[in-house]
Amino acid sequence: MAIIVQKFGGTSIANAEKIRRAAERVIKTVKNGYQVVVVASARGKQTDELIADALELNPNPPKREMDQLLSTGEQQSVSLFAMVLDSMGYDAISFTGGQVRMLTTSDFTKAQIKSIDAERINRQLDQGKVVIVAGFQGIDEDENITTLGRGGSDTTAVALAAALGAKQCDIYTDVDGVFTTDPRIFKNAVKMKQISYDEMLEMASLGAGVMHNRSIAFGKKYDVKIHVRNSAKEIEGTIITHEVPQMEGVVVTGATIQKDMAKISLVGVDNVPGNAAKVFANLAKAKVIVNDIVQTEISPEKANLSFMIGISDLDAAKEAVDSIKSEIHCDSVFIREDIALVSVVGVGMRTHYGVAEKMFGALAKTKVNIDSITTSEIRISCAVDEDQAEKALEAVCVAFELDKPAEQRTKAN
Ligand code: ASP
Ligand code: MG
Repeated sequence: MAIIVQKFGGTSIANAEKIRRAAERVIKTVKNGYQVVVVASARGKQTDELIADALELNPNPPKREMDQLLSTGEQQSVSLFAMVLDSMGYDAISFTGGQVRMLTTSDFTKAQIKSIDAERINRQLDQGKVVIVAGFQGIDEDENITTLGRGGSDTTAVALAAALGAKQCDIYTDVDGVFTTDPRIFKNAVKMKQISYDEMLEMASLGAGVMHNRSIAFGKKYDVKIHVRNSAKEIEGTIITHEVPQMEGVVVTGATIQKDMAKISLVGVDNVPGNAAKVFANLAKAKVIVNDIVQTEISPEKANLSFMIGISDLDAAKEAVDSIKSEIHCDSVFIREDIALVSVVGVGMRTHYGVAEKMFGALAKTKVNIDSITTSEIRISCAVDEDQAEKALEAVCVAFELDKPAEQRTKAN
């Protein structure tokens, strides 16, 4: 019998009524002849509330204890879910991450999954039960409870789907699927029918908050078909899948906006081996996450080096740069704190030309100045003034017709 994994996010099981509705979906899938594994998040805002409780008692709580605490939210969800199914006449059994040997690293609050023992789950499925597994959590080799980072239940679900060889992984959430861009900013954004893992990975790391980033990486590695859909509606959502030839026909799949960014430029650094390594070693030591690094030689003796960071890392980054600046003979440090990144993403960029021109043209027409430009094979990003970022995103969305489903756009888009 084929297995389907169904993950329910916090909003989809926020109260008794919603848990019942989620259970009905599970039952429908069972009736359609599938074995079902449910992955549940903590209900509603429970994880936030637990974090607030912790911080009230200790502003800097030990990470191990944080995981011990936060994992209880999911533990409540799964047992309640099993009880509801039981009341509806279906056999169900719930497990914590530890009980299904979801083995992780010991990096508390951001652990990575190392292995899963599918054996216990398979045995229960074969007895005709619905198996409900707590999302977001695992155990390390010393049996400490760990968590996978905020939003990590998605990763639990996709990893389980991979380990069980499931036919599909449904991600039930409170939106209709993945949109071409953030509908709060560009009101005419449309839901995508499908998107490739690579595009979704880019979009997720550029701030599209639908899915936990690492879940997509798992999906790609093990080719798990992921269906993101609304738990309150009976409609198709968005399928995240491997690339199919027709995806290449669509040049730009989606656009993103990332606010609260800062850019640091080291101007006139000595153009000798080892200087970039020194700068980034310092930043890594300060645990600063760095994006879009650009180094340009400006003369035989000197180079400029710039990179983007999240604004919350600015103080740490400034300190890291200050401590190295004289050693690398940097003439000056230029910092911009009011930057946002507007990006377009699409696998079709690999085979089409004119994408950059169209994006820059759209920005020029709306009189948005581009501060810097970075690209990957399937992405173009422009750093712009934060004040102008929403206007910039709208202009780009209009240019690439992101208000229309892919099949209705003009050919070149
Ligand atoms: N409950 C956790 C969180 O709120 C994990 C999840 O929902 O995926 O981040
Ligand atoms: Mg989530």
